[in-house]
Amino acid sequence: MTEIPNKFTSELTSILGKKYVYAEPEKLEAYNFDGTEFRYLPGLVVEPETTEQISQLMKLSSNYRIPVIPRGAGTGVTGGALAIHGGVILSLLRMDKILEIDDISMVAKVQPGVINFEFQEAVKEKGLYYPPDPASYETSSIGGNIAEDAGGPHCFKYGTTRDYILGLEIVLADGTIMKTGVQTRKGVVGFDLTNLIIGSEGTLAIVTEAILRLIPLPGKTITLLTSFPDILTLTGSLSAITRNRIVPAALEFLDSNCVNIVRDKIPIKIPTNFSTLLIIDLDGEGNELERQIEVVGNICIDNGASDVLIADSSQKRKGLWDVRRKFREIIKENTNFKRGEDVTVPIRQIPALIQNCEKIARKHGFVNYNYGHLGDGNVHVNLTHQEKNVQIVQKSELAAREIFELSVSLGGTISGEHGIGITKKDFLDPDQRSGSRQNRFVHLVPCCSTIAWQHHHQNRTSHSVLA
Ligand SMILES: Cc1cc2nc3c(=O)[nH]c(=O)nc-3n(C[C@H](O)[C@H](O)[C@H](O)COP(=O)(O)OP(=O)(O)OC[C@H]3O[C@@H](n4cnc5c(N)ncnc54)[C@H](O)[C@@H]3O)c2cc1C
Repeated sequence: MTEIPNKFTSELTSILGKKYVYAEPEKLEAYNFDGTEFRYLPGLVVEPETTEQISQLMKLSSNYRIPVIPRGAGTGVTGGALAIHGGVILSLLRMDKILEIDDISMVAKVQPGVINFEFQEAVKEKGLYYPPDPASYETSSIGGNIAEDAGGPHCFKYGTTRDYILGLEIVLADGTIMKTGVQTRKGVVGFDLTNLIIGSEGTLAIVTEAILRLIPLPGKTITLLTSFPDILTLTGSLSAITRNRIVPAALEFLDSNCVNIVRDKIPIKIPTNFSTLLIIDLDGEGNELERQIEVVGNICIDNGASDVLIADSSQKRKGLWDVRRKFREIIKENTNFKRGEDVTVPIRQIPALIQNCEKIARKHGFVNYNYGHLGDGNVHVNLTHQEKNVQIVQKSELAAREIFELSVSLGGTISGEHGIGITKKDFLDPDQRSGSRQNRFVHLVPCCSTIAWQHHHQNRTSHSVLA
């Protein structure tokens, strides 16, 4: 564990004020967790209010070689916000201001601690839409979303966080404050540093401000709910839908094991031999929306779906989406051990992925629940067990490795949205990087100019040496 010298703490206190530097164990405990099951107590927690304070903090930490871990709302599911070597947790939640919403330029400027849901509500009041909607959108921060390039159900039609970031203000490890990108909807001057920072999980820089692109609020959204005999027939309907020039706003599925635990929670009777549930959001105006409903409904029925239920009121839609968004917790309630991965494959490979994941899970003694973003080929593969002990954890490691290898062999990648953090860093070896975005990560790490950073730099650096 990193030792924190008293002199460092007192210098930090003079930068941030006594109120915003914590070392009391009970206060540190509020920052020892994230969305994983791991717990690590930091040495200090700081809550800056300005970019300048963060810059001074980073200069000081670099001098003392103390790790600094940026943290938003702590909902990350790969451990990136945990202080696994101690050090300083840099909480960005005090920097929570929406600085500007320009409804003419359709651009907004926010601080990193703004909560996604609050931002979505604020732009909605101006008739605008910010689509990135991770299932954690009610609690996760825009800074954390940028650091993870978070996605969500509506990314199928609208893209992930990356597609809505025009520019950033960042602080580098040595305290340098930098602006990247533009405040305009276009801009091609210089290297694209903005995209380099998005998805870098707090390893390259701290995001202290973001310029976000907005779009007009879609007219009306309706949700269709239907079920299919199996994943193969379901995937078949997908290409028929897009061939009809329709891109659903969201296209989410739940497999048979998932369906079995939510049968009573959803307002549709699913025939027992229909094992895969599909949730489709369509959005648009008037006749065009009617056409989409008609075409998509018919395609589903023609491809062997059961009845197609239409949820046209916001209350009915909320009921359905609550079940989908809370599925992670629903699985947890039904089991003692759960390991979730978010592998992503080309859409045509989804049936092969799911069938083989089921085999891998069975081989290692797990019950397998699959659900997720069908339209993006992003499947949340969950391995569960009624017991929880060291052997089960070890077996889940083996099974996860096989699932990652499977995904890469199908042309996919080991994470579509949750990132690498500490939970997947050991899987970033050269053989598993082909065709995936991860290889960029590995090679970039040595560029990081300081060691006053998180542990996973060190681990990644060792991987890059292997490469
Ligand atoms: C129930 C549940 C559902 C989820 N569903 C989804 C989903 O549908 N899609 C999805 O993509 N993710 C999902 N997640 C994962 C998580 O919510 C996202 O990764 C989210 O973007 C994390 O935001 P946060 O504010 O909680 O970040 P944190 O957990 O605090 O941090 C996450 C990472 O970002 C870094 N970071 C945070 N803020 C900054 C900053 N300002 N500058 C630099 N680095 C920073 C941290 O160091 C860490 O590495 C889910 C999590 C839960 C618990």
